[in-house]
Amino acid sequence: MRPAILNPLFAEVAALKGVGPSQVRQLARLKIGRVLDLAFHLPTMMIERAAVETLDESLVGRPVIVPLTPARHDRGGPRSPLRVAAVDRGGQWVDLTFFGQTANWAQTRLPVGVEKRIVGKLDRYGQKLQIAHPDVLPMDGAAPAPTREPVYPLTEGMTNRRMGQLVTDALARVPAMAEWIEPSVLARAGWAAFGDSLIAAHRFEGARSGALDRLAYDELLANQLALLLVRADTRARRGRALAGDGRLVGPLRAGLPWPLTGAQERVLREIAGDMAQGQPMLRLLQGDVGSGKTLVALIAMLTAVEAGAQAALLAPTEILARQHHATLVKLAGALPVRIALLTGRDKGKAREALLADLAAGRIDILVGTHAIFQDAVEYHDLGLVVVDEQHRFGVAQRLMLAEKARVPPHVLAMTATPIPRSLSLTRFGEMDQSIIDERPPGRQPIETRVTAAERLDEVTAALARHLDGGGQAYWVCPLVDGSEDADEAAATSRAAFLKARLGQSRVGLVHGRMKGPQKDAVMADFAAGTLGLLVATTVIEVGVDVPNATLMIIEAAERFGLAQLHQLRGRVGRGSGHSICLLLRGAELSESARARLKLMRVTNDGFRIAEEDLKLRGPGEILGTRQSGEEAFRFADPERVQRLVTMARDDARLLLERDGGLAGARGQAARVLLYLFERDAGVALLRSG
Ligand code: ADP
Ligand code: MG
Repeated sequence: MRPAILNPLFAEVAALKGVGPSQVRQLARLKIGRVLDLAFHLPTMMIERAAVETLDESLVGRPVIVPLTPARHDRGGPRSPLRVAAVDRGGQWVDLTFFGQTANWAQTRLPVGVEKRIVGKLDRYGQKLQIAHPDVLPMDGAAPAPTREPVYPLTEGMTNRRMGQLVTDALARVPAMAEWIEPSVLARAGWAAFGDSLIAAHRFEGARSGALDRLAYDELLANQLALLLVRADTRARRGRALAGDGRLVGPLRAGLPWPLTGAQERVLREIAGDMAQGQPMLRLLQGDVGSGKTLVALIAMLTAVEAGAQAALLAPTEILARQHHATLVKLAGALPVRIALLTGRDKGKAREALLADLAAGRIDILVGTHAIFQDAVEYHDLGLVVVDEQHRFGVAQRLMLAEKARVPPHVLAMTATPIPRSLSLTRFGEMDQSIIDERPPGRQPIETRVTAAERLDEVTAALARHLDGGGQAYWVCPLVDGSEDADEAAATSRAAFLKARLGQSRVGLVHGRMKGPQKDAVMADFAAGTLGLLVATTVIEVGVDVPNATLMIIEAAERFGLAQLHQLRGRVGRGSGHSICLLLRGAELSESARARLKLMRVTNDGFRIAEEDLKLRGPGEILGTRQSGEEAFRFADPERVQRLVTMARDDARLLLERDGGLAGARGQAARVLLYLFERDAGVALLRSG
């Protein structure tokens, strides 16, 4: 239950004085629905007005508040602005100008001879002083214009003054709350209380950056507490110890053409160690593209099967599910394990039969898209769930997994996107981490080049030579302003161009709008080598594995995020051949675009690229959640996350481990914090809490 002191903040905005249905709609456009959202709606800057009796040159360029008396209305031609000549108390003349207003309007609002309080920015126009579009207030008005006014993000129909009032009303409802930050942390940082910090952030009082730090810290503390609570909850459940006897993994290892890398062996020890415990594993496996995660997943799944349980591998797309299934069957085909594939596309009798086999325990390993966790799907004894490309799955899906087994299954999440530590703490902080930081030996580094798009003819000619020599290649088409239609159009017309140049039968096309079977057919032809060139939108971004493809061409590379470019580049360099990634760039590049492409050229280090991308484009870009609106932080920008998250993590841990958890005195305060930042799902999980 939400602490009652927060109720005024969680009330609808309509509860505030003077907020009717139309203002509710306006605010909704800014995602402001509750009083809390208003209190957290921070201004972008502060206007400081000079309140003066007389104007002079020194004030030009500044916002001013000044009493002026209109002396003459001058409506020029229909296209020229309305001009009101006015004079201040010291006899200084100034023109007030208004576009789109009539002389009639001026007569009512600015009658000649009646002094008004004028608010606006003083400019010079030729020899004259001028204020364009000032606010006109009566001299005896109850609320004179403030000399300092925060400037808020607005929406059509909402004035800044009105927004300021609403925020003030909202701030008045922020209750006094007990301090949740550890006293020594608070003392060291020198932060004010939460409420005072929030006000300082709105009013630009005192050291605003310190106030913003505190708010970001509070948000991160709530985030870390919630994650640690989820973690503690998982740990507290009774899982099932799964220890293998080697009867499947032994022969698999013996049959591999190469030894596992040291990093693969290390993470496998970590995973096996977790699975052998009586608590469910919750582990994130990070490894750059091509580091060999699939094999690690297979060995973990075989271990579960050895121990008598079933395993499931969840892939983000149909293409990947199919490919994983094919890979696993190829690697483990000779072993006595039954591996099946289930996607949303399977219907009718075949699907019924598969579900029956699964429920009866006749299937050991099930591979598929989220279809493998639909209601109708029943497992005989699910012991391990592997989630590939973890970052594409939300918390809800992760929780849903747990419901498919009588005993909570072990969960191994995998991601090929190296995630900077600050980000993995905030996003996956409830998990243990394993990192494969080594590639299989013998891989040649991918050579990356940047070429101007004008050299399309040369590029096409080189591509033709590459194909003639028996090589295969990818051609990835640009992101067109986030519109799938436009992306598809770009890929389609590029494919038509390349077919004309290189031959119809050598070029295939895949894009996100194609039907599944159509897509699969093209992918299968490419994997089999029947197609030499695959033209694609970013649907091929993750996981696709065709070792003979050693050339990757990315068009309009400057429009892609760095992490995404790195992913795309990872499609090549998977065999023993020398691989090239060609980044085609547009004619006009910004400084930062130039720098980003250069970074791609000079490094292959996924972690370094991810750090840089985090700084440049924020977490949504790396996690692929930018469009989904999953961006969870209001105050903690990437820079603050990086600076403050470790502190918040330690503080949260201290609270839970030393200070008695949510039941203790500080815990009661922290409970309010969790609700304030809407991380209460973490509290709900701790049923006892
Ligand atoms: P990831 O999923 O991490 O991007 P994959 O699992 O697809 O990487 O592995 C990439 C390629 O490397 C696959 O063709 C795989 O068979 C091969 N591979 C995996 N482990 C090793 C190893 N230890 N030595 C050599 N090749 C390996
Ligand atoms: Mg993979």
